[in-house]
Amino acid sequence: MNGRCDKCNGRLRNGGHRTATRTLCDKCNAQFLGRAAGMAAGGGVGGAIATSGWLSRIRKARGKDGSAES
Ligand SMILES: [Zn+2]
Repeated sequence: MNGRCDKCNGRLRNGGHRTATRTLCDKCNAQFLGRAAGMAAGGGVGGAIATSGWLSRIRKARGKDGSAES
């Protein structure tokens, strides 16, 4: 309940996000997911960074509109 992010050491809200080996805050988890997606797509480091930015934009769009849910 009072954990801290294993990456940035920030306090976790809602218990954070558990990965296979670490617990991450919302921000680091989003970065982690973006990087993982980029790696899975074979984009390498550049692709991972691009994917991370893309993911952030998608999430912002969803948050504003709320009608993007399927
Ligand atoms: Zn963090």
